[in-house]
Amino acid sequence: MKSPTEKLFTTIPIFFSHGMQAKVESLSPSAHKPWAAVESWIALGIPLSIIPPTPVTREQLARAHDRAFIDANLDGRELNGFNTKAADVAASLPYTSGAMLGAARDAIRSGLVAVAPTCGFHHAGHAKAGAFCTFNGLMVTALALNAEGLSQRVGILDFDQHYGDGTEEIIQTLELTS
Ligand SMILES: [Zn+2]
Repeated sequence: MKSPTEKLFTTIPIFFSHGMQAKVESLSPSAHKPWAAVESWIALGIPLSIIPPTPVTREQLARAHDRAFIDANLDGRELNGFNTKAADVAASLPYTSGAMLGAARDAIRSGLVAVAPTCGFHHAGHAKAGAFCTFNGLMVTALALNAEGLSQRVGILDFDQHYGDGTEEIIQTLELTS
């Protein structure tokens, strides 16, 4: 068995695949950011293990979001967080939330760090996309960890420049505060 010090010198798991990206002309770089981040870490020589994320299912998304809202977005019938109905944005969404969930599970199991180079989550509400966020992968992840029995209490530390209003709205809509 490795000592805690030895474990620190392993590679950092990064949950990434190109499926997380979308081709979007937008003020926000969100849709292109995952690979830009990973590429910069590789250039810096940071020891990484790249793990392709498993996309979340509609059922997993439905723990945090209204089911009709999920279906309309994934099927291209409703405006996404970029204010479009672009198919490649819809296709990327299960992978971005899947990366967050995969990294969270990995970190809980290892007791170490794991990274999901994603963004575009915290303004998405229960049945509302906006401000470049369509699904709230933070809440999808927190509720999956609860459902899987991996963690009963989950903290979300949000360091964005603005407030995570979508995260709060989901917590209030689902009456998750106690
Ligand atoms: Zn924001």
